[in-house]
Amino acid sequence: MSPIQIQIMIFIYLHSPEKRKVSYLAEEFNLTKSTISDTIKTLEQKLLIKKEFDQEDSRSYVIHLSKKGKQLTEKISLFSQQIQIPVDRMNVDDKESLLFSLLNIIKHLNTSGVISVQRMCFNCNFYSSDHSGKKHFCKLLKTKLADKELRIDCPEHLASKAV
Ligand code: SF4
Repeated sequence: MSPIQIQIMIFIYLHSPEKRKVSYLAEEFNLTKSTISDTIKTLEQKLLIKKEFDQEDSRSYVIHLSKKGKQLTEKISLFSQQIQIPVDRMNVDDKESLLFSLLNIIKHLNTSGVISVQRMCFNCNFYSSDHSGKKHFCKLLKTKLADKELRIDCPEHLASKAV
């Protein structure tokens, strides 16, 4: 399988139906819709995904993993276990520091245009912080967030300016 096929399979496995559409995937992976459509077609031919067409718009569909696709994705995603091992050995302070550093790196890559879509607290309109940037608050959950509670891939993330 190609890297983009693997990335799409894992993305579909981990995300909700409204994000499992060609246009969303094109934005997520910074690729054209036709490239995503071709990849989806290949995955469908391999019987790894299924399409659920919109009843009101026959060109639009949600992508689901087939049983075979789900089993394969569960195996593929085991690579992350190797990252987990050294992280598990760290103490809590080091883990929080690592998370904070990663969030800042991702935020920089996002604001400089290297990566497109992000769903983390630092670029969410529900997020606010004090002037030092060390105290975090979620206006949606109406709660303070400790460093370890900052999210990288939040389902409630809001990127627009509509709050
Ligand atoms: S909605 Fe999610 S991403 Fe946004 S601030 Fe709250 S926890 Fe963070």
